[in-house]
Amino acid sequence: MIPVTKPFLPPQEAYLKYLTGIWQRNWLTNMGPLASELEMKLKEHLAIDHLLFVTNGTIALQMAIKALDLKGEIITTPFSFIATTSSIVWEGCSPVFVDIDEASLNIDASKIEAAITVNTTAILATHVYGNPCDVVAIEKIAKKHHLKVIYDGAHAFGVKIEGKSIFEYGDIATCSLHATKLYHAIEGGLIFTKDSTLLKKLASIRNFGFNGPEAFAELGINGKNSEFHAAMGLANLDYIATIHQKREAITLRYDEKLRNLKARRPIWHSKSHNNCSYYPIVFESEDLLLQCMEYLKTHEIFTRRYFYPSLANTLPYLEPKDFEITDKVAKCVLCLPLYPDLSLEEVDLISRLMLRIQNN
Ligand SMILES: *Cc1c(COP(=O)(O)O)cnc(C)c1O
Repeated sequence: MIPVTKPFLPPQEAYLKYLTGIWQRNWLTNMGPLASELEMKLKEHLAIDHLLFVTNGTIALQMAIKALDLKGEIITTPFSFIATTSSIVWEGCSPVFVDIDEASLNIDASKIEAAITVNTTAILATHVYGNPCDVVAIEKIAKKHHLKVIYDGAHAFGVKIEGKSIFEYGDIATCSLHATKLYHAIEGGLIFTKDSTLLKKLASIRNFGFNGPEAFAELGINGKNSEFHAAMGLANLDYIATIHQKREAITLRYDEKLRNLKARRPIWHSKSHNNCSYYPIVFESEDLLLQCMEYLKTHEIFTRRYFYPSLANTLPYLEPKDFEITDKVAKCVLCLPLYPDLSLEEVDLISRLMLRIQNN
C-alpha cells in the first residue's frame, strides 16, 4: 500500500534523547526550555528574527486575526485548506472570496481590488503548495487601501523569495507543523511578524493574555505548545536536510517520468523555488482525474484531491458562490504520494500506471 503521505519520524533514540531532560526537569509545557530552544533553532534555520511556537496552524491564524483586531470582511482564497476560511469565520469576520490565478493556483492579485468594500480590513492569502503568492502586488494593494495582510504559509516551510524567508512577508505569516506537513512537531504552528509590539501582543495572547501572575493585559487564549511537541520539532529539525533532499529527489523523478502525462503543474514564482511539500497535477478534466485516481486505488496507491471542493461553494455556514477558475481547478487537481520514505521505484511504478491509464 502506498499512502498519499506518511509523517516523517526521526530514529526513536533521537526523540528519546530530548525526553530525558523533560523527566529531569519535570517541566512539561508552558514555554519550557525545549519550546524556547525550538524557537531559537527555527529562527536560525529560517534566518528570521521573530517567531512564536504555538499549538497548531489553525490557532496561529486565529491569533493573527485577533491580534490585528480585524473586523468586517477579509479577502481570501477559495482554494486552500478549510482552516484558512474557518479561522476568519471563527473570529467573527466574513470571508470574501477572490478567484485564483490559473497558473500559480494562488489568489489572483489582479482581482483583489474589485472585491474591496468599505468593510474590508485585510487580505488572508495562502501560499498554495508552498508556491509564494504575488507578495509585491498584494502589498501594494494593501498599502493603497490600508489593509492588513496575513499569509497562511502552512505549506511554505523553508521557502524563500530571492533569499529572503517567505515568512517575512505580510503583517503576520503563519505556518503549520502538523504531522502531515513537510516539517512537523506532531501538532504545532508558527507565527511570524516583524512588528515587535505585535509580537509581544501575540505572545501575551498565546498565554491567556496574562501580564504577570495576577494581571491580564488583554483577551487571550491557550495557544501554547508542549515540551513533547517541541522535542519532536527539535529531533526532526536535525533531519531537515535529509527530508528536503528526499522530497526533491522524488519530485524530480516524477517530473522526469511524467513528462508525457497530459496534465499540467502549477507555475512556480519566478524568484522562488519548490520546497516539494506536495506533488500536485492538474488534469485536463475531472473524468481523467477520476479514472487515474481509481486505477491507482486498484493498485493500493492512494492520492488526494487536495483541495477539493472549492471553499466558496460547499460550506454549510456560507452563502455558496461559484468561481470559474477555482471550480475548474479544484475538480481537476490531484496530489500524488510524496513523503521521504517513498522510494524512487515506487515513484516509477506510480508514474507507469498513470501513463498506462492515460494511453488506454
Ligand atoms: C494544515 C493547514 C492549516 C492548518 O494547520 P493545523 O496545524 O493542522 O491546524 C492551515 N492552512 C493550510 C493551507 C493547511 O494546509
